[in-house]
Amino acid sequence: MAKQSSLHCSFCGRSRDEVKILIAGQEGHICENCVEHAQEIIAQELQVKSEQQSAQYTFSVKRPVEIKRYLDQYIIGQDEAKKVMSVAVYNHYKRITQKQQQDEVEIEKSNIIMVGETGTGKTLLAKTVAKLLNVPFAIVDATVFTEAGYVGEDVESMLTRLLQACNYDVAAAEKGIVFIDEIDKIARKGDNPSITRDVSGEGVQQGLLKMLEGTEVLVPPQGGRKHPEQKMIKLNTSNILFICGGAFDGIDRVIARRINTNAIGFGVNKDIQELQKKNLLQFINAQDLKSFGLIPELLGRLPVVTHLEPLDAETLRAILTEPKNSLIKQYTRLFELEGIKLEMEKEVLDFMVGKALEFKLGARGLRNICEHILTEAMFEMPGSETKELVVDLAYAEKQFNKSKMGMLKVA
Ligand code: ADP
Repeated sequence: MAKQSSLHCSFCGRSRDEVKILIAGQEGHICENCVEHAQEIIAQELQVKSEQQSAQYTFSVKRPVEIKRYLDQYIIGQDEAKKVMSVAVYNHYKRITQKQQQDEVEIEKSNIIMVGETGTGKTLLAKTVAKLLNVPFAIVDATVFTEAGYVGEDVESMLTRLLQACNYDVAAAEKGIVFIDEIDKIARKGDNPSITRDVSGEGVQQGLLKMLEGTEVLVPPQGGRKHPEQKMIKLNTSNILFICGGAFDGIDRVIARRINTNAIGFGVNKDIQELQKKNLLQFINAQDLKSFGLIPELLGRLPVVTHLEPLDAETLRAILTEPKNSLIKQYTRLFELEGIKLEMEKEVLDFMVGKALEFKLGARGLRNICEHILTEAMFEMPGSETKELVVDLAYAEKQFNKSKMGMLKVA
């Protein structure tokens, strides 16, 4: 007993009798008071570190023309989307700096929604803007979110990704960009809520409202809701830019219906019909998105609506060679690193574009096709005597046709 009472906290010196808990270490003890105190010190230190780290993210506001010029280097076509995005991003970051000046005029957030087929460059646009501005960036998929209380991820988990992207630098994350992909998948089924019981997507949309507008959110640092004991990080979303993207399959019919009934009525001119059919997406507005199943409150928080054009052969061809880090440039570099000069003949590029269109894979398919054509060479050539590879149409066709993709017939 006498031995027990001689125990004391090695940090504050309190004896066993003066504290509630004494945790034993290898050569000493620590009491609950000192544990708490140590926790405070850690939190303060981390905060200081985070502020120091934020200096890494010294984002500078670029003018819309400069943003667009930068985007042009990486993204082919999509002029309208690039312009709209440049202006929205510029205004958003101007808004942040204005807030710091404590001006009385409150500019609202310019969160963006982009509509366009898969593989047309929505993610690439958002990612490139984040790179230019030097702000943390996270991509999340709306389909994984569920209403609070159900199996799946809470919407807060998207902020976990943002924090992880910048190594838990809270100040930087609060100025970051979150790209929410597949936003169309959380659309309510059917326009009229009273005739449908499927409100699964609606709950998630509701969950997004506050976050998109700007609020303080407690974010689980490791994501998920399985560990309620984990210490939450407080994040303010007022200055986070949310960019949503989705294919909105079938929305062209919604747009057509609106245009026909609104402006033109019956007996619509055939030429106009043809023109509209080409790309009805260009006429998209919030009303169409509402008819598709996004709730008005959510649309109100996504004031900038833009569209991406479907990619035609000419654009796909340009995507192969023109962007600063185009596919062909990337493969050329890969071979170059092995001391091999790669040359792809013009017909091969046309062949790849043709296959991408045939398989309806958009620009995303180009990479697969290129990979199929070059895999064997990339396997055999490193270390060999040959220092040059000229890929002609016959070689490309042969390699592609024996690949898994080439064996598939397009329905
Ligand atoms: P989305 O998000 O619309 O489904 P992504 O942005 O992920 O499409 O595009 C997939 C890939 O296709 C990109 O990584 C990029 O290499 C290429 N790509 C798509 N559109 C373009 C474009 N307009 N210009 C250059 N590359 C593009």
